[in-house]
Amino acid sequence: MALAHNGNLSNASELRSELELSGAIFHTTSDTETIAYIITRERLRTTSIENALSRAMDTLDGAYSLVLMSPQKLMCARDPHGFRPLCFGRTRDGVIVIASESCALRAVGAEFIRDVEPGEILVFSKDGMESRREHCGKQPKRLCVFEYIYFARPDSTIDGIGVHEARVRAGETLAAVHPASADIVIGVPDSGLDAALGFSKASNIPYGIGLIKNKYIGRTFIAPDHRMDQVKLKLSVIEEVIHDKRVVLIDDSIVRGTTIRRIVDLLRDAGAKEVHIRISAPPFMFPCYYGTDINSQDNLVACHNTIKEIASMIGADSLGYLPVEQLCSIAPDHGYCSACFDGKYPTRIPSDTRKDRFERRLSEIKRR
Ligand code: SF4
Repeated sequence: MALAHNGNLSNASELRSELELSGAIFHTTSDTETIAYIITRERLRTTSIENALSRAMDTLDGAYSLVLMSPQKLMCARDPHGFRPLCFGRTRDGVIVIASESCALRAVGAEFIRDVEPGEILVFSKDGMESRREHCGKQPKRLCVFEYIYFARPDSTIDGIGVHEARVRAGETLAAVHPASADIVIGVPDSGLDAALGFSKASNIPYGIGLIKNKYIGRTFIAPDHRMDQVKLKLSVIEEVIHDKRVVLIDDSIVRGTTIRRIVDLLRDAGAKEVHIRISAPPFMFPCYYGTDINSQDNLVACHNTIKEIASMIGADSLGYLPVEQLCSIAPDHGYCSACFDGKYPTRIPSDTRKDRFERRLSEIKRR
């Protein structure tokens, strides 16, 4: 069996303990290994791999979009809340392609067919496609709203909503709730650009390209020296666009505040007269347990400071976030998860939330 997984389980610790007590020996700290163990265990108790997958889904809690292959079948499944996206398409030769985002289908020449429904299992075999829906509708839909704000590519469509359009709408809403007197609107590449366009459209302040992303930085042959300024290496300012201007700078989020502080410095060094920061998401107030690398409130600047204090820490003339009540402007009529902004978790919170919980367990077991 081959298995790929996007997401994080919220009951992984309990499932691992149960499996270890029955003799399982884990080789990694990944939730994916737990899912593979459970499907394998269920396969011994039932007549087909898809039945085993369905039974495994009865025990898994949290975020998972899965792709599986057995010698005869290709399968995929999305958790009943639908936290993470999943879709499928077909190439001209009839090859089925499954991906998190629709942009990946186009990249390999496949035509998008549809999103996998929350809770749905799809089985592709020589007999065609079978949709199993026994887990559909069991839970309210809770797609991660941060997929629209940051994770996904703007050329993707998730559950019927284009990511680019969603970001433009967030920018338009920001312009309405946090207007600014300024000469130019720019975005932090890449995920701030679409919202900057929306802000510009709604405010009639001209849109400009003020920051350029260094496209070579990801290449290993110029691995950056850690003493160097990472933000300066990644981003550079087009001085003639910024000089002597009152700038609105749009970004998708502030976690610790260190990166945005450096970007504000870069703009000031380039001669910006004023820098007004607008964020196309609400303040991060709570950790995410569904696959985002924000596991503790300690690292979240908005948990310990007022908006005024954050503005002064990052050196901005003003700061405005998308209000949590306005998230619905991004994805109207969509059930979504917004727990990192409002603390309303759709599932139980994991019993052990430490990032290194499984490493600790492995070393504990080795010591015994
Ligand atoms: S907690 Fe935030 S980042 Fe995590 S799944 Fe929910 S909306 Fe997405």
